[in-house]
Amino acid sequence: MPDAFSDIAAELEQIRNANLWKTERNIISPQAGYVKVEAQGSAREVVNLCANNYLGLADHPGLIAAAHKALDDHGLGMASVRFICGTSDLHKKLEARIANYLGHEDAILFAACFDANGGVFEPLLGDRDAVISDQLNHASIIDGIRLCKAVRYRFANGDMKDLEKQLQAARSAGARRILVVTDGVFSMDGYFARLGEIRALADLYDAWLMVDDCHATGFIGAQGRGTPSRAGIHADIITGTFGKALGGSAGGFIAAAGPVVDLMRQRSRPYLFSNALPPAIVAAAIKAIDIAEAGNDLRQRLNANAQHFRTEMTKTGFSLLPGEHPIIPIMLEKAELAQEMATRLFDEGVYVTGFFYPVVPQGKARIRTQMSAALSPADIDRAVTAFVKVGKQLGIIA
Ligand SMILES: *Cc1c(COP(=O)(O)O)cnc(C)c1O
Repeated sequence: MPDAFSDIAAELEQIRNANLWKTERNIISPQAGYVKVEAQGSAREVVNLCANNYLGLADHPGLIAAAHKALDDHGLGMASVRFICGTSDLHKKLEARIANYLGHEDAILFAACFDANGGVFEPLLGDRDAVISDQLNHASIIDGIRLCKAVRYRFANGDMKDLEKQLQAARSAGARRILVVTDGVFSMDGYFARLGEIRALADLYDAWLMVDDCHATGFIGAQGRGTPSRAGIHADIITGTFGKALGGSAGGFIAAAGPVVDLMRQRSRPYLFSNALPPAIVAAAIKAIDIAEAGNDLRQRLNANAQHFRTEMTKTGFSLLPGEHPIIPIMLEKAELAQEMATRLFDEGVYVTGFFYPVVPQGKARIRTQMSAALSPADIDRAVTAFVKVGKQLGIIA
């Protein structure tokens, strides 16, 4: 059947022709401030500005030792979902630790935050209920909402007037439960959700608030407790990941009131029908929370790096989105330009990735840099020098 997939080939060709093709590089070292990357048959060391390794824990000896120990004590994997025979003492310890760290009654683990978001809505919300979602929320929230029967409302990104309009609409439609859901940080822009105002509106209309804090847990707010802590509010439901600041391995969670977590254990499909997290990953995650909670030094280094990079890049004339988060986007508008810039920066020893449609809107292509506590000021300077050189070559800056 030579033509069985010819229509797929045509689709792939369209992606290529539109300059939207994504490629992947092979890293052959641990994830870190500097990484070794395969390039034309040899290895290149490059400074890494595109990992979610905010606190630099991805190669932390303490996390690796904790994982090694759990491998020895608990074996490789559970070979079971949690409710059959997949729950270990380590899983319970991590759930208690998350709940305690984030100030919630309980927490529940998932294979990924993608699964936490995929499984959180359906048990809570039926067709008598409403979910109100920020337009720029993560793909996993969008998918999770698709899987539930609630009436769906969407508000323009960060637009509080629109949020209130949607809350009114849901209330007048007679919704039983209303859940407002937002990313704590919008990862393409590095913008914070306006959680103080969102909480106040949710309270006014007797709605619950859920915050996906994947780009915040561990490094935003006091002791890294996330965007609710930064905003001085309590969210009813938090979802988060161990795949970013908290060690960069894998795993997601929901932290919430006891009954909400209990309901998830009974009803959440990605929890009920998917394997338990491997003990080594769970042990490393416990260690990651310990380090993050005490890690003011790491947060200070992260913020100093972000400040330094922002200041230097702004001086050189690049167009940056304003902000305070270690996500720092360099705006280039055109997808091809973002691609070309990333390629040339790699040749100059700086690893960054171009982002373009459909990940960001058409005409808003960018290079999204992410700062890390694993970087030194000299690494940042080296990156800025490379940006200036390539920016001049491409006529982006004078
Ligand atoms: C990364 C991310 C996720 C997915 O987390 P995983 O644990 O990698 O599945 C979900 N939501 C947001 C906002 C994210 O940034």
